Amino acid sequence: MQDNSDYQDSKLSWDDFQILEEIEREGKLTARITEWLHFNDPLPVLQEHRAAHPQSDILLHTGMLKGFMDGSLGSRTAALLEPYADDPTNSGLPQYQQDELTQMTKERVNAGFQIGFHAIGDKGVQMALNAFAATTTDRVVTPDHVGTGLRPVQAERSSAAPLPVPDPRFRIEHAQVTSPLQIAKFKELKVIASMQPNHVLTDMNWAEARLGPKRAAYSYAWASFAKKGVVLAFGTDYPVEPVAPFRGLYAAVTRKSEDGKKEYYPEQKLNMEQAIAAYTTGSAFAEFAEKNKGTLAPGMLADLVVLDTDITSVPPEKILGTKVLRTVLGGKTVYEVK
Ligand SMILES: [Zn+2]
Repeated sequence: MQDNSDYQDSKLSWDDFQILEEIEREGKLTARITEWLHFNDPLPVLQEHRAAHPQSDILLHTGMLKGFMDGSLGSRTAALLEPYADDPTNSGLPQYQQDELTQMTKERVNAGFQIGFHAIGDKGVQMALNAFAATTTDRVVTPDHVGTGLRPVQAERSSAAPLPVPDPRFRIEHAQVTSPLQIAKFKELKVIASMQPNHVLTDMNWAEARLGPKRAAYSYAWASFAKKGVVLAFGTDYPVEPVAPFRGLYAAVTRKSEDGKKEYYPEQKLNMEQAIAAYTTGSAFAEFAEKNKGTLAPGMLADLVVLDTDITSVPPEKILGTKVLRTVLGGKTVYEVK
């Protein structure tokens, strides 16, 4: 499983974390950072990394384990249950066998790690859901598409097996292609949908060609998740996309291209209140930080931005040009337009 490139990536990002620790010691860290660890790293390495820096440090700490179920839709490497509409011989590239993934997931969850799986295609999503389900119940999750070729998860738990972790806050990162039954499974297993609405601005140019209309209607399905009561945690996917959230907020409430000419399945758009909540309270919850972050209230961290635009009242196209005038971190101004 652990090939050399995984090891190099993991070593590089651990070097990054140590540099961040140094910046923090010098008092120069101006953003709160949760460093994700590599799901594929051996458990002892993960435990060592977790123990290397206090989890109680609200400025910098390690967090969830990110594992990759598949690739991306653009490159047709996202794993789909049915072939690509524009490449009938190809269903993408799953990165694991189900039973191997399930075993690794159980081991890491039982060691107290939060798990977040990058899954873009509906097969990647199903693999992640199957692995999560196996840690919480004895039941086999049946894939809700016929003829998926997925091997069923073994239904066994010996009396010596650990009890399910009470609040694991499983996450699926991106979750771009899903079915209604999968969305119901998110709700049942309390899986957080960690999504990046800005992706739709580029992907709308070819997503329907890749997926065909039936699957496309449930792609980037923010409204379907929200309606089901699944926790949405929005982010920007920086450095793949710019770090500012305004393109994402615009995409979330319009599902339109930046020039306003193209629209992608508008029934999946959210209102501004839902979109802001997904970027703030949703994301705080997704990293177990809802007692400190996500809302502005007495007792919460004073982390806030001052904008030049009231994004809750302007027409959507005005959101794109929003500028940050001031950034406050823990009550201290760390950025200001002079
Ligand atoms: Zn990812």
